[in-house]
Amino acid sequence: MKFLSYWHDTAPRFAGAATSPLEGHYDVVVIGGGFTGLGAALQLAKAGARVAVVEAQHIGSGASGRNGGHLNNGLAHSYLGAKAELGKERAIALYQALDDSIDTLENLIAEEKIDCNFRRAGKLKLASKPQHFDAIARNFEAIHAEVDPDTALLSTRDLESELGSPFHGAMLSKKSAMMHMGRYVVGLAEAASRYGATIFEGATVTAHTQANGKHGIETSRGRLTAGNVIVATGGYTTKNFAYFRRRIIPVGSFIIATRPLSDAEVADVMPGNRTCVNSMNIGNYWRLAPDNRLIFGGRARFSATSDQRSDAKSGEILRASLAAIFPQLAKVEIDYCWGGLVDMTKDRYPRAGYQDGIWFGMGYSGHGAQLSTHLGTMLADAILGRPDRNPLNGLSWPAVPGHFGKPWFLPLVGLYYKALDRLQ
Ligand SMILES: Cc1cc2nc3c(=O)[nH]c(=O)nc-3n(C[C@H](O)[C@H](O)[C@H](O)COP(=O)(O)OP(=O)(O)OC[C@H]3O[C@@H](n4cnc5c(N)ncnc54)[C@H](O)[C@@H]3O)c2cc1C
Repeated sequence: MKFLSYWHDTAPRFAGAATSPLEGHYDVVVIGGGFTGLGAALQLAKAGARVAVVEAQHIGSGASGRNGGHLNNGLAHSYLGAKAELGKERAIALYQALDDSIDTLENLIAEEKIDCNFRRAGKLKLASKPQHFDAIARNFEAIHAEVDPDTALLSTRDLESELGSPFHGAMLSKKSAMMHMGRYVVGLAEAASRYGATIFEGATVTAHTQANGKHGIETSRGRLTAGNVIVATGGYTTKNFAYFRRRIIPVGSFIIATRPLSDAEVADVMPGNRTCVNSMNIGNYWRLAPDNRLIFGGRARFSATSDQRSDAKSGEILRASLAAIFPQLAKVEIDYCWGGLVDMTKDRYPRAGYQDGIWFGMGYSGHGAQLSTHLGTMLADAILGRPDRNPLNGLSWPAVPGHFGKPWFLPLVGLYYKALDRLQ
């Protein structure tokens, strides 16, 4: 078994990084080489701005190259819950922004000819317990009537042609998609680079200053100045960005990938070939890879670290969950096991905008694979003076009480959700 992201292992590395020292002035410096940062950089470079991306490791090394590859449309929250928490207008705007995110990806992939197996597969939100179906059905009725007619409610019977595991019904979101995340992130960097963005890898931003409308960005490989800065560092945000460290909770999330399944196994396990997520609080999500591996993820352990030891422990928990859902695969070989840091916010809504002279987009809370590119382009548009389409504008973002970077409280949160899963 490889302790390595399947996406990293099966995509070429970005080959266009600048090797020169970091120096000079840019219109915009983007910190972080994931989807958010690269989406912004592409949009800015296309408009003729002088833009640099500064990435501490390599393109896609963060969550963008480590995720489950589900491009879900609509809200990850219950739509009814979001309406109660945010008000109907913003809940709809956010729902539609997620729908638009998939269109943005589809168009960008076509325009830039990125070979990444993008496919509108549809997503199943599966009821793990009979009582979960009632909540899914209530949510479906409001979504279908108010914001997304491309949805359907499926019964246990309907699910027989979708997957080889008994669930108690599901909501199908037909606009949802999937793709090869590694090939996409590298293709996005290549596109930004083609339009003139300079991309630095292996350069960590260690300090940031601001004076007279000019930003100074100290890095491990030199110093840049810029008219604007975008912080797109997600769950990997470093100490020098204390404002964001107090608001972003980095949470480890983990994935295993089986060996490629045979056609007969696919027909038995996942004939519908969609993205799937179950309804538990400590839930699981899965899909097939382009080479028919089952990519199976979940929170597994409530840990703020993702390293080989932590990933391996989580991998064992995931293997047991996989066997519980698909007993047919209880003994299947696991070829990959990896983890990454999710950039959680307390209320699990993302945040993007402008704070103390800095543009930022983060806090996708495990659901940013589609929204991050889209939000990046929105941040770029705002900098370019184009109409501001950011659906998160003005959403308040208080610091998490008692949180200064390391989330000491995660095990307690884990215990709470475990108890909830037993009760509900
Ligand atoms: C295991 C896992 C599974 C997931 N599954 C899904 C899914 O199926 N569907 C979905 O929608 N979302 C999923 N997500 C979330 C999704 O991947 C993220 O929301 C998205 O990739 C965020 O992109 P980003 O560009 O904002 O951040 P990232 O991709 O994390 O990029 C941030 C980058 O900033 C760099 N950085 C940080 N600090 C500095 C610094 N000081 N100097 C320079 N560089 C710095 C990091 O090295 C990193 O590369 C998952 C996440 C994880 C971890």
